[in-house]
Amino acid sequence: MNAERRLAALRRRLSDEQEGAAFLVTLPVNMRYLTGFEGLFDEGIAAACLVTSDIARFYTDFRYAEAANAAAEGTPWAVHIQKESMYVEVCQELLADGMQTLVIEDSVPFGRFKFLSEQFTGRVTVVSQWIEELRQIKEKAEVEAISRAAALTDAAFDHILGVVAPGMREIDVAIELEGFMRRSGSEGLAFDSIVASGPNSARPHAGVTDRVIGPGEFLKLDFGARVDGYCSDMTRTVVVGAASDRHRAVYEAVLEANLAAIAGARAGMAGSEIDAVARTLLTAKGYGENFGHGLGHGVGLAVHELPSVGRMSRPPVRSGSVITIEPGVYLPGFGGVRIEDLVVVEDGGVRLLSHSSKDLIEL
Ligand code: ZN
Ligand code: ZN
Repeated sequence: MNAERRLAALRRRLSDEQEGAAFLVTLPVNMRYLTGFEGLFDEGIAAACLVTSDIARFYTDFRYAEAANAAAEGTPWAVHIQKESMYVEVCQELLADGMQTLVIEDSVPFGRFKFLSEQFTGRVTVVSQWIEELRQIKEKAEVEAISRAAALTDAAFDHILGVVAPGMREIDVAIELEGFMRRSGSEGLAFDSIVASGPNSARPHAGVTDRVIGPGEFLKLDFGARVDGYCSDMTRTVVVGAASDRHRAVYEAVLEANLAAIAGARAGMAGSEIDAVARTLLTAKGYGENFGHGLGHGVGLAVHELPSVGRMSRPPVRSGSVITIEPGVYLPGFGGVRIEDLVVVEDGGVRLLSHSSKDLIEL
């Protein structure tokens, strides 16, 4: 990662919009993006990054001192180990420097906002998504980490096809998928897996239950690995046993929407325009009401990040973003199909990072 470049980009935003102010970053994923430091376990309590036009200070406590100093080496960040209360120290130091404005992220919990407003006698102002907007354009190394996470996801899917059989429980499939990814080098899970069989597959964000998977049912698998902090996210839906005509009709409609959106997506299109490519097709087939979520989302250090690719997503999706394309059709009581790929947006179109087969698989 290039900590200098990321810090410089943030300082430009700060001087453009709040000249002379200090920006306090406390969202762990944003601190990791800025500093590369991985060990932020207690959200907003164990660490904070303070940025002004000439300060780049990483506050943490005794528990993380050694790791923070090692991570900061060769970066513009100076590590500051808090003595008693990190936020009190930050506010006192800024006031002593004559700082008038403290900028914080809108993800700050209300209790912390209140505390900072009491401690900092200048102006406390809240901004939205400054670092999230930087994060949405990936560097080459970030795309490579996501690709490696996607490759682990592909390998896990390939593995699970040889394991799933009627009579297994959803939870057994999830444990096998997750164990495979961990054994193959995933740092953890990108998010809680979805393994949803039969009628459960009609719930877009079903979790994992102890339901026994029966023959002639959809099995929807949505899961992701993590490499160097970066997530992957993929969904495949298979039929356990033989597919019926109804299974095939739904599957083919969703696959057509997935392929059309991948073929049609271009850098510069609004998220809503990419969404519309898939939605128009599914609506024409009578499934418009059954596709009740957005087409996709950005993926990076967080599994859901900018840019958003939904019906209301007006901002353009820019070259260098990594997004999902995940149309789905959900038929209550019967089942649902989602086919989700991870892609990187490039100038000429999108490049697939997920490589698992999308043919209808009958197990
Ligand atoms: Zn997913
Ligand atoms: Zn997703």
